[in-house]
Amino acid sequence: MTPERPPEELEGTISWQELAAEAADALRGRADVEQPEREGRWIVEEASGLAGADWVRQAGEPATQRGVARVDAMVARRATGVPVQQVLGRWAFRALDLLVDERVLIPRPETEGVVDVALVELDRAAGPRPGRVVDLGTGSGAIALAIALERPGTEVWAVERSPAALAVARANLAGLGMAGRHVRMVEGSWFGALPDELAGSFDLVVANPPYVAEHEELPAAVRDHEPIEALVPGPTGLEAYVEIVAEAPRWLAPGGALVLELGAAQGPSVATLAAEARLVEVRVERDLAGLDRTLVAHRPS
Ligand code: GLN
Repeated sequence: MTPERPPEELEGTISWQELAAEAADALRGRADVEQPEREGRWIVEEASGLAGADWVRQAGEPATQRGVARVDAMVARRATGVPVQQVLGRWAFRALDLLVDERVLIPRPETEGVVDVALVELDRAAGPRPGRVVDLGTGSGAIALAIALERPGTEVWAVERSPAALAVARANLAGLGMAGRHVRMVEGSWFGALPDELAGSFDLVVANPPYVAEHEELPAAVRDHEPIEALVPGPTGLEAYVEIVAEAPRWLAPGGALVLELGAAQGPSVATLAAEARLVEVRVERDLAGLDRTLVAHRPS
C-alpha cells in the first residue's frame, strides 16, 4: 500500500480498477502466482460481475462494499495456495464456462486438444448420423459437455465413479440448457456404469483417466488441492489404461474410435495395450508443446 493514498480512497471509495491493482500487489511474489495482474483482474471481475465490455466501461467506478469484501476473501484464499480456478469457482474449457472446485480435476488446456482429436474421430466414425459417445471418468464434465455442445444431436454418456465429482458434472450439465438434452450422466467405474445393451454401439470412447504414477512428484498446488483419485490410478500410472483398453473393443461399434489422453511418456505403453486388445490403426498424437498427448485406436470395421 502506498503512503500517499488518492483522495477518493481517503473518502472510503476505491474503483474496481484500483481494487484489481491492490489484489495483484497482494499476490505478487508468491511462488505459485505467475501472473498477478491477470489474477487480480480475474478476481475483481468475478467479485464485481463486470467482464468484457462492462469492465472497460465501468472499471473506473467505485467498488461496492460487498465487492471489496468478496475480493478480500478471494485474495486471502488464493494467498494460501488455493489454485486460482478454485478461487474463482469456474474456469473456461473450449466454449464452456465450467463450475470447478476441489471435487474435480481442473480442466487443462492439453485436454482441449484431446477434444479436437476426439471430434475428428467422432465425425469420421459416425458420418452424417448423430453419433453415440462415452466419456469415462468425466470429472467436471469437461470432455462430455464440450462434445455435446459442439456436436449437437450426439448422444453423450458421461461416467464418473466419484459421487462428489458427479455432482459437479451435473451442475455443469444444467448450465448447458438445451444443448445438454442428449447427455446422460451415470455413476460407476468405467464401462461398468453403462447399460449392457449399449455394448458394441459407441462411435467414440474418450477419457482423460488418472495417469500419474505413485512415485511421480506433482506440483504442490495440484497435490494439495485436486482430487488424488483423478490423478494417480496406482503404482505405475498405467492401471486405468489397462482396464479401459481391455474393455473398449466390446463397447465400440465397428470402426469406432478410442481416444485417450496420455502422459507424455506413456505413448508406447498404451499403444502396446491397444494392439494387444486387437484394436487397429493405433497412433499417438502430440500436443502443442510437442509432447505425446493423445492415443487413438479403432475397432476394426
Ligand atoms: N495433466 C495432469 C497433471 O499432470 C494429469 C491428469 C491426469 O492424470 N489425467 O497434472
